[in-house]
Amino acid sequence: MQFTEEQIAFRDSVRKVVDKHVAPIAAEIDETDRFPREIVDLFGELGLMQLWVPERYGGPDGNLTMMCIAREEVSRVSPACATIAGLNTMFIMPLLHFGTEEQRQRFLPEVAKGGVVTAIAISEPQAGSDVSAIATRAVRDGDSWVINGRKQWCSYGVEADFIVLMARTSDASGSAGISAFVLEPKKMKGITFGRHERKMGWRGAPNTPIFLDDVRVPAGNLIGEEGNGFRASMRALDLNRPTIGAQCVGMAQGALDASVAYAKERKQFKRSIAEFQGIQFMLADMAIQIEAARALVYECAQAGDAGDWKRLTYLASMAKCFASDMAMKVTTDAVQVFGGYGYTKDYPVERWMRDAKLAQIFEGTNQIQRVVIARDLLGA
Ligand SMILES: Cc1cc2nc3c(=O)[nH]c(=O)nc-3n(C[C@H](O)[C@H](O)[C@H](O)COP(=O)(O)OP(=O)(O)OC[C@H]3O[C@@H](n4cnc5c(N)ncnc54)[C@H](O)[C@@H]3O)c2cc1C
Repeated sequence: MQFTEEQIAFRDSVRKVVDKHVAPIAAEIDETDRFPREIVDLFGELGLMQLWVPERYGGPDGNLTMMCIAREEVSRVSPACATIAGLNTMFIMPLLHFGTEEQRQRFLPEVAKGGVVTAIAISEPQAGSDVSAIATRAVRDGDSWVINGRKQWCSYGVEADFIVLMARTSDASGSAGISAFVLEPKKMKGITFGRHERKMGWRGAPNTPIFLDDVRVPAGNLIGEEGNGFRASMRALDLNRPTIGAQCVGMAQGALDASVAYAKERKQFKRSIAEFQGIQFMLADMAIQIEAARALVYECAQAGDAGDWKRLTYLASMAKCFASDMAMKVTTDAVQVFGGYGYTKDYPVERWMRDAKLAQIFEGTNQIQRVVIARDLLGA
């Protein structure tokens, strides 16, 4: 896909910021696993966190292509910081597509200011790939809902101002009884967070369980209609998956750039290793796969920007699945190009390899993406 002049200018401006502010701290964030609040402030000032908020609510009025550009650029240096760009997607989208105008007026201008952290809580200990198995329950009581249950993983939830939370509001079978609520954890009582998960990669992005004990949520915080939660979360995921694909393209590009530079520099048998065909072919294969994934990701972004939801769902699963499998392969090969040094923390390639693994798992595992694609193919 050919970027427009405006998109190129946007990409270059993000790249500059990333080189100046993210690159110097990327390894340290991984090492210490600290949440980089300064990146939230910075990306909030630049409009990157709240990119999706339309102009009428005070936002930058971005779109899926811009989201992908931003995430690709940040991920070239730090996949963990890349998720902070566009972090609010999973909060904004359910409100935009399924919320009421009153809810949009209430929450979106706040998010548009920047620096607001939001999260989405769907998964539970027993409900991972099978979202319809969620057991957290919301019961209507006068002007509010009372929520009890437990959520698992919830990225950034412990830092969040707002959380979109899925809870069962009826016994209707499967996903029909699931509704979406806006939780305000800094204001509402009965919300506690469990132990931080100790993860292989994507360090600096906090993940904790959430315990909900008689949490009283005003009726006005039910997003749209009762029973719409599953559809709201699926739409948000469809719009977020291509950006995970873009992140994968970014981290693979970072790994390829580092590998090319290293291959030219490193000498064995009195020659740079870049002169060996075995290394050249590996680099060429990495580049082929990155370009193929990039084309798929931006094709998908265009479908999303055109509002072609059916094609978006299909391509979003492909983009996320293909790009994350690609990133796993490319970053593993990058470690190979670096030899023994690639296996140490002195170079960033092992970090990208660990981060790439997550992209095959979260936002729906790659097996589930294949289920979605096959269902579409078979008309099931
Ligand atoms: C770091 C991290 C951050 C996360 N952030 C969030 C978040 O912010 N909010 C949130 O709600 N969730 C979040 N999640 C949860 C994530 O979405 C789930 O981990 C994911 O959907 C998979 O669920 P599971 O881990 O329970 O695996 P399971 O569903 O138990 O799957 C185990 C294995 O079985 C396979 N499998 C399952 N069903 C099928 C099938 N039908 N066909 C073929 N294979 C199948 C899976 O592909 C996988 O290989 C996060 C997870 C991680 C690791």
